[in-house]
Amino acid sequence: MEQDIIKNSKKIVIKIGSSTITSKDGVINKKFLDSLASQVKSLIAKGKQVVIVSSGARIAGVSTLCRWSRKEDVNYKQALCAIGQVELMDSYRIIFNKYNVHVAQILLTREDFNDSSRTLNIRNTLFTLLDENVIPIVNENDTVCVEEIKIGDNDMLAAQTTVLWNADLLIILSDINGIYDKSPVEHKDAKLIELVDDIDELEKNISIGRSSSFGTGGISTKLKAARLVNKFDINMIVANGKKDNIIEKLESGEEKGTVFI
Ligand code: ADP
Repeated sequence: MEQDIIKNSKKIVIKIGSSTITSKDGVINKKFLDSLASQVKSLIAKGKQVVIVSSGARIAGVSTLCRWSRKEDVNYKQALCAIGQVELMDSYRIIFNKYNVHVAQILLTREDFNDSSRTLNIRNTLFTLLDENVIPIVNENDTVCVEEIKIGDNDMLAAQTTVLWNADLLIILSDINGIYDKSPVEHKDAKLIELVDDIDELEKNISIGRSSSFGTGGISTKLKAARLVNKFDINMIVANGKKDNIIEKLESGEEKGTVFI
């Protein structure tokens, strides 16, 4: 299933979760970024266009400063994101440049998606960047968002970006193989659900546990994201970004994730 979907998709959004882009200590995982850059390069070589939605700014802020760790105060969180966003983009820039791929930063808020002239501007910027073979890297603009008006998690930001750009596929890379019938961390016998064509039915039949330590959205926001893109006839795949060359392995059939069609 993954093989055909990836093969037939020209415009692909890849969302990278916080737990995927950082190592256990919260430092940006350069090895992962290197593998991502090489996979993006090979997708481009196959004539595809890629937009990345990347989490990890806040946790990169914590590991950069080595203090302020995990204060819940909203201004601290925003300050950490402002610090970490630079670290994050710096890593993307250096590593993608090794593969001769240029990157650009796009920071968005919820209001940007509700305003037609802003969505037009975003779309035009995306098209222009992609025409020039530059990879847009999207994240939420935490500085201007207080909690109440945030999109809140990057699964939804990725889904909204997917719809706005009218992409063919959203790939969510997390630290698990996909959606399981119960939390795979708490239950060793949890089974991977490979194909979802009815999200209501899925929700009735699975139990959702806690998310990982750096993650924010968890599984419920991934289901919400799937609902949104599926409504626009766009497919979504959840797969394990911790596995080497995961996109290529999904494409070759060597690895499986959860496909929402
Ligand atoms: P990300 O940072 O990639 O967005 P999250 O940490 O927010 O990821 O969510 C993924 C985590 O959700 C997994 O690591 C897993 O421990 C947890 N989880 C809880 N219930 C389930 C389930 N039914 N299927 C899969 N993962 C689950």
